[in-house]
Amino acid sequence: MVRTIRKKLFIALLLILAIALGYKSTPLVQGELGETEASDELTLVNKEHPLPPEYVPSDLVVPNVPFSFAEDHPKKQMRQEAAEALENLFAAAAKDGIHLVAVSGFRSYERQEAIFQRNASQMGEAEANRVSARPGESEHQTGLAMDVSAASVDYRLTEEFGSTEEGRWLQNNAARFGFIIRYPKEKEHVTGYQYEPWHLRYVGSSAAQTIANKALTLEEFLSQGNQRA
Ligand SMILES: [Zn+2]
Repeated sequence: MVRTIRKKLFIALLLILAIALGYKSTPLVQGELGETEASDELTLVNKEHPLPPEYVPSDLVVPNVPFSFAEDHPKKQMRQEAAEALENLFAAAAKDGIHLVAVSGFRSYERQEAIFQRNASQMGEAEANRVSARPGESEHQTGLAMDVSAASVDYRLTEEFGSTEEGRWLQNNAARFGFIIRYPKEKEHVTGYQYEPWHLRYVGSSAAQTIANKALTLEEFLSQGNQRA
């Protein structure tokens, strides 16, 4: 009798322990990334994998490249490694006579919230979610993304950029510097976003070259079992 009670107590204790441990490691939002995953250069952020609202990269810097605007703004920032890679990319482009400008990099959760709300009030939630991310679901919060443009399209973020000389140069050369065109043409069903020839995402050059050579998206690359080298 005593032995059964002890056994039951032991099982109850195990259960409590399991629940307590499970609770600790379970994020508040289902699928939400933890700090370590969020800061991985191969981190996958999309509609199924949001970043925690409080996530802000710890190594944001302003890359030394031309911007489409002059004033200081947090959106000039990228994470250190991505910023250096962007500087190298811009320098190589300039050598080829290609003049790019940076338009928008890091974006906090709060700023993304404001952008999404503004779009949703103008075009409705569904369309807003196709052209802009909900807060937490934007790659710009990782500090690994930069939107770029050129004078030939008046520094706008437009699909036409993809067929300009500058857009084509990016398509052919971004991977050498560790960047991918994150939302390619005809991959909306995979990425959840329309074609964005201007949105560069830093993933490191090994991943970027595989992704570019095989015409993959980051989702497809990671689902093939590729992890951080
Ligand atoms: Zn973007």
